Amino acid sequence: MTSHSFTEPAKKHLGQNFLHDRSVIDKIVQAVNPKPGDHLVEIGPGQGAITFPLLERHGEMTVIEFDRDLVAPLAEAARAHGILKLIHRDVLQVDFTTLAAEDARESADGPHRLRLVGNLPYNLSSPILFHALDHAPAISDMTFMLQKEVVERMAAGPGSKVYGRLSVMLQAYCSVIPLFTVPPGAFRPAPKVDSAVVRLVPRPASEIEVVDRGMFARVVRDAFGQRRKTLRNALSKVCDAAALESAGIPPGARAERIPVGDFVRLSNALADA
Ligand code: SAM
Repeated sequence: MTSHSFTEPAKKHLGQNFLHDRSVIDKIVQAVNPKPGDHLVEIGPGQGAITFPLLERHGEMTVIEFDRDLVAPLAEAARAHGILKLIHRDVLQVDFTTLAAEDARESADGPHRLRLVGNLPYNLSSPILFHALDHAPAISDMTFMLQKEVVERMAAGPGSKVYGRLSVMLQAYCSVIPLFTVPPGAFRPAPKVDSAVVRLVPRPASEIEVVDRGMFARVVRDAFGQRRKTLRNALSKVCDAAALESAGIPPGARAERIPVGDFVRLSNALADA
């Protein structure tokens, strides 16, 4: 029988920075704090740094890993810890809505939702976040390790230098709760930047006010596309100054000063028009 072990060098193009600091791993496990019945789904389990402690505690979980060299050693090592459902695929091709629906258990409010966890490949963090948002009703929460600078952008409010498209898009659909920062030395190889763990909790469908997701995405993209422009100019392709004024937004203002709710109101008015 072939024995598999994690002997492959880390692959930069897959954003592989493996966690080895026990205290950081423990803090992530505590932050996730799985409860009986939770459907845990880890994105990018790598060599199992977070997977195995979670599996020890929870007994079973799903993982999504793209690197074929890691799949067999993961499956083998996991046997000592619990039941691992391994999906060998690019996470961007995984339909979280279907994954949640495949779970035979039902919750009081519909299909059993997923709890996503991951020390994400940093080169893909924005596409993964937006992919998850597309499936937000299937997700009950996400605990992600990201670049600290990305977490700061996600959580920023109007007036902050780092408030932008990512802040508005995420905050319209989720609450964003930064948890703790992690230094480069916690990983092998060490990344060049500091990292942070953040929790995202999708808002219930009844609370989401965005009427037309496509229109909202377009308004936010154009508004922050050229930060130096006034909104009258930045949004000239989607609306005129009168539409801005009726949404309560001064046409001479810049996007970095406008609260999330105003973008939602404007895009809803444009969707209705
Ligand atoms: N969870 C491990 C840890 O904390 O040590 C590994 C984290 S490492 C930063 C990112 C992981 O995501 C790697 O295992 C990498 O192979 C995997 N990965 C990269 N791109 C992926 C993709 N498109 N879909 C799924 N996994 C991916």
